[in-house]
Amino acid sequence: MSSNFNLDLNLNLSSEAPDVDLEAPAEPRPAIENVIIIGSGPAGWSAAIYTARANLRPLLIAGNEVGGQIALTTEVENYPGLESIQGPELAAQMQKQAERFGTEVLLDYVTELDADGPPFTVRTASGKEFRANAIIAATGASPRRLGVAGEERLTGRGVSYCATCDGFFFRGKDVIVVGGGDSALQEGLFLTKFAARVRIVHRRDQLRAGATLQRRAQENPKIEFVWNSVVESINGEKKVESVRLKNLVSGETTDTATDGVFVYIGHLPNNQLFLDKLAMDEQGYLITDKLMRTSAPGIFAAGEIQDHRFKQAATSAGQGVAAAMEAEKYLAELEDRAYPGHKG
Ligand SMILES: Cc1cc2nc3c(=O)[nH]c(=O)nc-3n(C[C@H](O)[C@H](O)[C@H](O)COP(=O)(O)OP(=O)(O)OC[C@H]3O[C@@H](n4cnc5c(N)ncnc54)[C@H](O)[C@@H]3O)c2cc1C
Repeated sequence: MSSNFNLDLNLNLSSEAPDVDLEAPAEPRPAIENVIIIGSGPAGWSAAIYTARANLRPLLIAGNEVGGQIALTTEVENYPGLESIQGPELAAQMQKQAERFGTEVLLDYVTELDADGPPFTVRTASGKEFRANAIIAATGASPRRLGVAGEERLTGRGVSYCATCDGFFFRGKDVIVVGGGDSALQEGLFLTKFAARVRIVHRRDQLRAGATLQRRAQENPKIEFVWNSVVESINGEKKVESVRLKNLVSGETTDTATDGVFVYIGHLPNNQLFLDKLAMDEQGYLITDKLMRTSAPGIFAAGEIQDHRFKQAATSAGQGVAAAMEAEKYLAELEDRAYPGHKG
């Protein structure tokens, strides 16, 4: 592109908000919704913002964890444009932005999806039934938890499921990683960039991780292994101070001081709705193509329900944007509407 390239797009570049009617009176819901978004994590909210701004009046069904996983953490420092924000505040701002443009938010849980459509039928825990010409599945995933005392209370206060997100907060500190697979070792190695000492606690006396990762971890001077051991409790008043470890061979328990506990014992996609309906990979994640399409035309998926690689708020939000844009094109085609740049 030449340096004197100048396109007069007549853009409104002032700092004033665009002239949109944000206080439009509530209209009754259509018999068949344009699009239903299932899930209220970053993928769901960004899909809602984009479909709402495309005048599709999306209905978003939020599920039991409003805001998704990001609402479970404290400080988020890697979401572009926001230098530092608390997880619940980031989730609340996403919701506010989605509602501002006309997203209808339903605090309910989807119990059934009839993927034979369009229109698709969605049933909820409170007994409601909706039909929609397009669905965006954004039900996310859940890190598998240890299920020990102190874990839930200290999540975001030293207990973490994401070294990429939280490793930075542990500069010069002592951390424990729980697990023996590829993720535990990869994240353990990543944590050595920050932490002074990383102890990997594993319930067996050998690792499940690949040979190269094992070698790298064993050669890293900051990494130590605690074999045949499990975490029995995570302790601390306002933040993690220690863990109680139990040696499964000797039965002995010890309280070990540490600043952080990173849990890597697996990640579970929230896929129950889609079993036997949409194609999944061997780990149960929905299979999508580059246009975020699932195996059923009209059903799109975004975020961690279809992505076990990146697992970040920003990547999930980006995938929600892509799913929304493709859903809009799909609906335009369904209704035989002209779509700029799409048809002829
Ligand atoms: C403790 C913690 C800290 C993190 N810190 C960071 C960080 O600092 N930076 C970062 O980028 N990422 C971070 N992450 C990762 C980030 O939160 C996730 O990548 C992101 O939230 C995934 O977004 P998602 O929309 O795909 O799904 P999720 O956030 O998992 O949301 C899924 C949504 O689907 C809903 N749902 C599920 N089933 C149903 C159903 N049947 N009906 C209706 N709704 C349903 C849930 O209620 C939830 O609202 C962190 C994760 C955790 C757990």
